[in-house]
Amino acid sequence: MKESMTAIPRLDFHIHTKYLGCANETMEVPAIAQECERLGLEALGITDHVNSLDRLPLHLNIKRDLEVLETQIPVYFGVELNFTGLDEGFPFSAELKEEYGIQFAIGGIHNAYLESYDLETLLEIQHRHHLKTCRDPLVDVLVHPYWFWKGEFDSHNWPWFDSVAVVPESHVRELGQVARETGTAIEMNATASLAKEAFGEDYVKEYVEFLSIIAEEGASFSLGSDSHDIGSLREIRNAWQVAEQLNLTEDRIWRPQGAPFVGGEIGRETRQ
Ligand SMILES: [Zn+2]
Ligand SMILES: [Zn+2]
Repeated sequence: MKESMTAIPRLDFHIHTKYLGCANETMEVPAIAQECERLGLEALGITDHVNSLDRLPLHLNIKRDLEVLETQIPVYFGVELNFTGLDEGFPFSAELKEEYGIQFAIGGIHNAYLESYDLETLLEIQHRHHLKTCRDPLVDVLVHPYWFWKGEFDSHNWPWFDSVAVVPESHVRELGQVARETGTAIEMNATASLAKEAFGEDYVKEYVEFLSIIAEEGASFSLGSDSHDIGSLREIRNAWQVAEQLNLTEDRIWRPQGAPFVGGEIGRETRQ
């Protein structure tokens, strides 16, 4: 008997470019679109970092590349927001979104913000910022919950965060509930959370369990590779696989509203 597979749309809404100095030189907009075509993507989103307001004009380089891009894939123009500090906000506003023509925003916490290591405080700070992100009407997707930068931990000699199973289930359920209520998608990040080669089988298994609790609370999910190198775009399959594994239906997979910036049938109609 043939098993019917859940049809997960082939999407990637977390991709960096060379312009913000985080991704490498291989991350040229035309090369990204070409590799995504090869991988059979249905739609993609460019989401480079906005860590401070002075970096925002650099995103106009991406926009210029998109304006002359020729591709069959619908491409959206987004940004990835980071907090300006502990319990501070994102360097973003409805006015800036409008001014730069930004179609969507993903965002989240990127630091531990600890004076000294304490697991309970670490988890409390992350949880608080996750909920704050979900409640921000300008943010569509909460990125990579419980991802940490290893360099930060190593520089302080803190014990590495090697298991998401330490997060209290009450936090996970509350995150799922708030995400559902606010219509914020939770990211399934292919390289920052779901890469077995980088984190090990057990870490990823526990992370999938974490995502499955969020799914039980009715939240939607966004699929993202968080690519900083052209060779890592193919890692998006990790996220597609997990979405399939969790039996998510297509209506639970987030995508930006409206026509893409460029590419695809809808894009062409709108631009005529
Ligand atoms: Zn990030
Ligand atoms: Zn990113």
